[in-house]
Amino acid sequence: MSVVRDDQLNQASAGPLTNAAVVTLRADFPALAASVNGHPLVYLDSAATSQKPLQVLDAERDFAINHTSAVHRGVHTLAGEATELFEAARGRVAGFVGAEPHELVWTTNATEAINLVAYGISNASLGLGGAAAARFALKPGDEIVVTEMEHHANLVPWQELAARTGAHVRAIRVTDDGLLDLDHAAELIGDRTRILAFTHVSNVLGTINPVTELAALAHEVSALVMLDACQSAPNRPLNLHELGVDFAAVSGHKMLGPTGVGALYGRAELLADLPPFMTGGSMITTVRIEKSEYLPPPQRFEAGTQRVSQAVALAAAVDYLDAVGLDRIHDWEAQLGQRLVTGLAEIDGVAVLGPGEGVERAGLASFIVDGVHAHDVGQFLDDRGIAARVGHHCTQPLHRRFGIIATTRASAYLYTTTDEIDEFLDAVRGVRSFFGHAEPAAPATRSQVNA
Ligand code: PMP
Repeated sequence: MSVVRDDQLNQASAGPLTNAAVVTLRADFPALAASVNGHPLVYLDSAATSQKPLQVLDAERDFAINHTSAVHRGVHTLAGEATELFEAARGRVAGFVGAEPHELVWTTNATEAINLVAYGISNASLGLGGAAAARFALKPGDEIVVTEMEHHANLVPWQELAARTGAHVRAIRVTDDGLLDLDHAAELIGDRTRILAFTHVSNVLGTINPVTELAALAHEVSALVMLDACQSAPNRPLNLHELGVDFAAVSGHKMLGPTGVGALYGRAELLADLPPFMTGGSMITTVRIEKSEYLPPPQRFEAGTQRVSQAVALAAAVDYLDAVGLDRIHDWEAQLGQRLVTGLAEIDGVAVLGPGEGVERAGLASFIVDGVHAHDVGQFLDDRGIAARVGHHCTQPLHRRFGIIATTRASAYLYTTTDEIDEFLDAVRGVRSFFGHAEPAAPATRSQVNA
């Protein structure tokens, strides 16, 4: 159940988002009022996980207090209420991404959603799922095309599928500017391609990939398209039917929702034929000792007791996002992304990965500081109350492609102010001198980063 506090959201809902509107919204996010190491928290790690507004926390708590019950099982009143709220949440989240309710499968997170498809295809390749599932079966020599910028969640499950079927994983190159090499994509996607799996928005580069163009290339050769929408669903209007993808994965915790819930979108006629990944209770019609019959989607893919309060809270999260407005959130993030990349590019010894100034990017930037390890940068920022992420961000092949092992990433969201970005940039300006690089070296150039 959503408890959107209309008074606050409406105050913030006229015209584009501004710092004043964001400050109003921040009242909904008590976590942002924290102090860290004696400084007001500057939370720039939303690409890893977002903070949650009170409306979402209230919805989860309300469900737990008033409606706790297992869904799709009991005949008692509470079970009926819980089932109704659970299925209403499914419809709400499906509508948010332009899908039908029966095309949305609840999962733990995006990682599980991608594994669900990969293991379903693996099972089909073993002959499970009957004649209808044969359309998914892979054989030796088939190819699964990914990109160099994939999160491990959209790479490792495909490697496992390849290992089980004799297929090969191939990767579309990333250019020095952090864009997908579309000529290489056109070269790689061919008769052997059975699956194209790629991210909508890179969690490291901030690059926004051309989904319809890539999906069209894959569909020309009858390959399936899996979109990792983890970093796009939180911050831009998404219509998966219009984008023309076959499957898509999202994580609730990155879009104001709780942990423990994500979703897989699958085109209805594909889900209808895909064998399940997990089996057990709640996904069957008839069970005999030798053999069982399964429910249609989405229940076929939802074995076991469901994550009900989390699903209900995720519906409250999308209510919140819609109340603020996805267009406004997108525009605000785009503005913050430009502020980050422009500000970082001006700092001596700092080099940013991904699209340069003026090129559209998400509200995040990953960078290296000449002579200072990313972990030291992260520690330095944390001492000043600034939460940024350091490491490879689950994209080792991408970091390897740029010849580096770790970056520092700042990622903003709808509750980030421009003052926070400026405070972060001020702090980064002090990093090199703090670590003994008082003499500014020649600024690192993009080609140095790309070496
Ligand atoms: N893909 C991308 C682009 C991501 O940023 C993430 C989370 N960092 C994931 C997949 C995996 O999400 P989760 O861990 O919630 O399954």
